[in-house]
Parts: sequence; structure tokens; C-alpha cells
Amino acid sequence: MEELKQCLNCKTKPCTTGCPLGNNIPMVISLLKNSEYKQAYEELTKTTVLPAICGRICPYMSQCMGKCVKGIKRNAVKIGEIEQFIGDMAINENLKLSKINDDVLQNKKVAVIGSGPAGLTCAAFLARQGVQVTIYEKFNKLGGILRYGIPEFRLDKTILDKSIDKIINLGIEVKYNCELGKDIFLEQLKKAYDGIFISIGANIPCSMGIPGENLKGVYGGNILLQQIQILKEDSKQIVPDFNGKKVAIIGGGNVAMDCARVIKKLGASNVKIIYRRAIEQMPAEKKEIQEAMEEGIEFLFQNNIIKIIGNSNVEKIECVKTKLVQKEGQDRLVPINVENSNYIIDVDNVIMAIGSKPDDVLMKCLNLDLDKYNYIVIDENYKTSDSKVWAGGDIANCKATVAWAALAGRNVAENIANYLKI
Ligand code: SF4
Repeated sequence: MEELKQCLNCKTKPCTTGCPLGNNIPMVISLLKNSEYKQAYEELTKTTVLPAICGRICPYMSQCMGKCVKGIKRNAVKIGEIEQFIGDMAINENLKLSKINDDVLQNKKVAVIGSGPAGLTCAAFLARQGVQVTIYEKFNKLGGILRYGIPEFRLDKTILDKSIDKIINLGIEVKYNCELGKDIFLEQLKKAYDGIFISIGANIPCSMGIPGENLKGVYGGNILLQQIQILKEDSKQIVPDFNGKKVAIIGGGNVAMDCARVIKKLGASNVKIIYRRAIEQMPAEKKEIQEAMEEGIEFLFQNNIIKIIGNSNVEKIECVKTKLVQKEGQDRLVPINVENSNYIIDVDNVIMAIGSKPDDVLMKCLNLDLDKYNYIVIDENYKTSDSKVWAGGDIANCKATVAWAALAGRNVAENIANYLKI
């Protein structure tokens, strides 16, 4: 209540403008101040179906809280914690997501492929209007990146499961262990459904093209996080065993931070993050960097890996120092390797956390227009080159946070519903 009282109920709603989903934060706070909890949940879920999740993992300081006027002189209103409170209350009180059935949409069928934040949100907003939705998921559990890309210490999987239950309880059918291009095919789905949304993510780790990347002990960051979570969920031993190992993580984004922190918690004796630029340019959230530092992760800023050395397993890496230069036409400072600054360090594992991309083979089988990096080309309504198929989230190269992916899912639901009404 003390935190709610900090809110000025600004007419211009800068916090709402800062939220990718456009959550009506001042209205939600006003309702909470009046102890109208259910109405606050109702208001919040007009724009999001993942409040307990976004309340925990959104980068608030670069979104809603970063725009809060209270942050100019003092501390911004803790919008993330308020959203989390409402999400958790809805889970504990078993509040349901509301439905407003649209008669025209009752017999319409939509397939959603992939169950990350974009897929779940699209499925929920369609099902709320009465569309018969089927989610196709390649694993035996739903959640996509929320389950397999975000570690447990950032997102409690019980909260995730309960948030997903609320969405599935809208009457959504789920087909588990169904992978696009292997178990199901787009042409087959096009015959069975009135519309299809592809939100399968882009999960193939990028490589640097340096010598030694094929040695045993080199892993792609996002695939490693996924494997660790799958093994954990099945209560199996984590392979590879990081206990006592020296591990180098290459990259400066949230995946690099998550890998470093997960591996440290699995018992690694030394974890180094090697990043070509300075801390100020690191794309990872400040909070994640801070927490990684507090947990004893070592940071080598303005250093670059140029070679991985070993016979069959990784034994060492060769690195160089970098300097940052401003180049014409480039927004960010560009790192350049400093001559004769090479040095070698002993490591047991190298984790490449330098980004991910779509599966080239799968993409070419879809018969959809692709860009030069094999992302699905979409128009302003998220529609692909096929009139029955929409795409959003990472696979369509949309903005990459959970809230932005959820926004894509919500917008696609609206566009599919409009298409089905014609
Ligand atoms: Fe309240 Fe901050 Fe939003 Fe203003 S900007 S309405 S103070 S949360």
C-alpha cells in the first residue's frame, strides 16, 4: 500500500507508454489503492496474460519504470513488484482469465506452433474470443523460452506452470512432442485450420568461425540452458558436469549472464565472461550483471577470443585485448583487436553466447518468404507471404524481450480474429 501511494496517477501515463504491452498501470494502481483486487486483475489482463511472469523478469528500468515520473527526482514506483503481486494473487485466489465470446469466431480453428510468450499470448487472446485453438509444442511441456531459456533462479517454474494453466483452462487443446517439419507440416496444418501462427523462436546458436569451435566442450549458450532445464525437469544428472571446471562464456547479453550464473551454481571453480566491448555497452540487464558479479563471476571486458585450443577436448583459449573506436555510420563503438596483446588461459569449457538464429533447413521447407538471414518475412500485421499464416517473436526477428514477444502474440490474435470475421 505504501508503494501504491507513491503513484501520482499521471494523466499522460508515461509508464503505460514505456510498457511494450501498454498495460494501464495508473488505472491498475488506482484500483489496488481502493482494494479492488479482482478489478485490478481484470484491468491488467485486458493487455497481458502473463503478469506473474512479466512482473518477475521484465527489464522494468528500460520499460515502464524507466519512464515513471517519480524516477526523475526519487525512486520510480515499483511497477514490476505491483504486477507480480497481482499475478500471484490471481494464482493464489484461482482467478480466471475472462472470456468474451464472439459468435462469428465460435467454429473457427487456429493452430499456434510454439508455446513461448508469443504463442501462449496469441492462443489466450484467441481462445478468450471463442476460437478453437490448438497449440503444437515440440517438447513435453509448454513455455518455450520461459521454461528452457530462463533459469529457475530468475523464474520459478511453479509460477510458470500455474500461469500456463490459466491460459490452457480457457479451453485450449495442446499437442505435445509435435515438432514443425518433423511431426507436423505446414501444408497439413493449412488444410485443417483457418489460420496458423508460427512462433517457434530462433534457437540455433551462432558461431564465431574461429579455430577450435568444433572441439568437445564447446556449447551454444541457449542450447546448453535448454539441455540443463530438460535434464533437471526429468531429475536426470546434468551433463556436462561443470563441477570444479574452468569455464569461459563468450558474449555480453542476458544468455551469457544466465549461462555464467547457472554454471557457477553447478559447481564450476571459475567462470569468466569474455566480452569485446566495455561494461557500458553490455546488452545484458544491469541487474543481471550486478548479480553475476556478486556471485563471483569474473568479467574480462574489452577482450576477444580468437582461438580454442585442444586435441579432442577444449584445453585452452587464445584471447586478445580490444580497443573501442568510433566508425562512420555505426551507432555503437566498434571493438578492434590490439596487435601483440595475445594471451592464453586454461579452460575446460567454452560457451558461445553470442546470439542465435533460425534453423535454416526447417525454414527453407516452409515455403514462406524469408529474409537473407532466414527469418520469416512478415508485414505490419505479422502476416507472412501465405495468406493463412502469421509469424511473430524471434522467428520473425521481432524485438526480443518477453513483453515484446507477448505483444506480437496479442497483435497476431487481433489480426487473425479480424481475418476470420471477414
Ligand atoms: Fe504512477 Fe509513475 Fe505511472 Fe505516473 S508514471 S502514473 S507516478 S507509475
